[in-house]
Amino acid sequence: MKRSDKAPKPPRTKHALRYYISVYFIVFTIFIVALLWVFQYFFLQKYYRSARIRAVSDVGDMLVEAYRNGELESGMKRAAFDNSMCIVLTDSSEMLIRGENNLGSLSYFMLDRLNSSGFNMHNLKQELESGGSDQITKIIKSESLRSEEILLCRKFQSEGSSYYLYIESSINPVDSTVSIIREQLIYITIIIAELAFIITLFISKRISDPIVNLKDKAKRFADGDFSVDFHERGYSEITELSEVLNKAEDEIGKVNRLRSELIANISHDLRTPLTMVKAYAEMIRDLSGDNPEKRNEHLGIIIDEADRLSNLVSNILELSKLESGNMELGYSEFSLHDKIRDILTRYTLVIEENGYDIAFEPDEDRIVFADADKLDQVLYNFINNAINYSGENKRIRIRQINREDCTRIEVEDNGKGISKELLPKVFDRYYRGSKMQREVVGTGLGLSICKEILKRHNFAFGVQSEEGKGSVFWFEIPVTEHKQK
Ligand code: ADP
Repeated sequence: MKRSDKAPKPPRTKHALRYYISVYFIVFTIFIVALLWVFQYFFLQKYYRSARIRAVSDVGDMLVEAYRNGELESGMKRAAFDNSMCIVLTDSSEMLIRGENNLGSLSYFMLDRLNSSGFNMHNLKQELESGGSDQITKIIKSESLRSEEILLCRKFQSEGSSYYLYIESSINPVDSTVSIIREQLIYITIIIAELAFIITLFISKRISDPIVNLKDKAKRFADGDFSVDFHERGYSEITELSEVLNKAEDEIGKVNRLRSELIANISHDLRTPLTMVKAYAEMIRDLSGDNPEKRNEHLGIIIDEADRLSNLVSNILELSKLESGNMELGYSEFSLHDKIRDILTRYTLVIEENGYDIAFEPDEDRIVFADADKLDQVLYNFINNAINYSGENKRIRIRQINREDCTRIEVEDNGKGISKELLPKVFDRYYRGSKMQREVVGTGLGLSICKEILKRHNFAFGVQSEEGKGSVFWFEIPVTEHKQK
């Protein structure tokens, strides 16, 4: 056979939930009804017979107890009446002590006649004695009644003497009862079938409706409709599922929004310097090309804008690497004093030329274990921001505070501060305070890069700020990071 001739295996047909629920329920109903019928047909007669025999034996027990308690008379009367029995009590010489007959003339014991099977009280007692037991039960056939008789003889002792208790009861044929029950059974079967049908419809609707609804909503959601409300009432699993879906929808919606915002922000920030580069390049070509002073000034702007662009691109790359977890940290031991002083040397120019007052307030030196380059980046960012946003007040303090469980590093400025509403957002990606003046070189990514770095190190971090008074950006290196890992 050629390969292409091979028919693909047909996929197994899957049915709806409602179908399975109905099938299971119908099978269950059929099983229950079948069980009912089987018990009616095969076991009712047998069950009835053994129940009667048990009842006679129980009456025997009860009457022996009643005799001992002196309540024989009432006990006998009640038992004979309730169960249609003939009950006789004799002493060991077969003298009648008490008898109660509720079988009328049909009783063998009362008439003391031999029945077709040859039993009367006398020979029943003899058989009991010869068997050596305390109780004997005989089932005999009675032709006249088309029924069976149970004969019981029980011997018991009381105050040194022996007594014999005889109980006779008939097992009425249950045929007529059975046929009544069967007729009822047919009605019951019909009612059960109808009920099962209705219940199946109801249950399968109740179970499958919320699932079907959720499925339809999920389809709409998959097609990009983020306004779907998954809220669905039903049973707990459905409520939980709809909550999970609602949450997933929120999250995906958020990511979606963030992605569009990010693209919008990035393209805006890429476009601005590009426009500047283009504008100044054109200006050099058309106007200032021959004027070395102007040309150099314009070229300077082009270089600044190119720097800004490359800064932005490398920040985006860095952040995406950090966020995706692809950045390995290069741990090493270093002295905090050395690190901070080393960073500050790079600000001498800013201090001298622009009149900034930047100083380090150290505590006792500590050796920490972290990624030195990444911590540099965090400190640079904090200090650069402090410089950028300190305004007229040019006082900036870098503080080391040794605590028992950690070393806290703070970068404090007395600049314009951050408003209460904006404070929680400053570490967010692409957040920039206000439409920043262009002279403040920033990408809105600096603090989110710091956040990722500090998170990767498991260092606590944060900011305290008051509008108009200044801000303190801080992070804490736990003491566990102060020695080799
Ligand atoms: P940017 O590149 O804009 O500085 P950052 O992520 O470093 O981006 O900072 C985000 C925003 O947080 C800034 O735009 C600014 O509004 C605010 N901010 C950061 N540091 C300070 C500070 N020391 N004082 C006041 N505002 C600050």
